[in-house]
Amino acid sequence: MAHILVIEDNPANLKLTRVILERANYIVTAAENAHDGLAAARTVKPDAILMDIQLPDMDGLQATSLLKADPATASIPVVALTAFAMKGGEEAHILAAGCDAYMSKPFRYADLLDLVEQLVGTSSLPRNVS
Ligand code: MN
Repeated sequence: MAHILVIEDNPANLKLTRVILERANYIVTAAENAHDGLAAARTVKPDAILMDIQLPDMDGLQATSLLKADPATASIPVVALTAFAMKGGEEAHILAAGCDAYMSKPFRYADLLDLVEQLVGTSSLPRNVS
């Protein structure tokens, strides 16, 4: 069972993302700021991290850079969740920080699940069951 760490300070976004992932049989750990998220990444060793870019205590890209600089967490795929549609140069900025992928919010549930599945390299149980 793949374990996903969601670092997101918006309670509604966090709840929605958690529901989407849990319904697809992922185990979810949540953190509402970068500090807690970095700590969780080291202790939980998730299979992937969904990283909000705008966090209260630290930019999500900065947090990603820290994760990628730490051998204990460097190999964990990070998906940046951006609040806005990509403008020119933003993609390069996100990837330069070490993010493995990004999604613009609001995202389609199926797109998020497809991306997570690609990154964790596992096929979750059937998720089209309503
Ligand atoms: Mn945010």
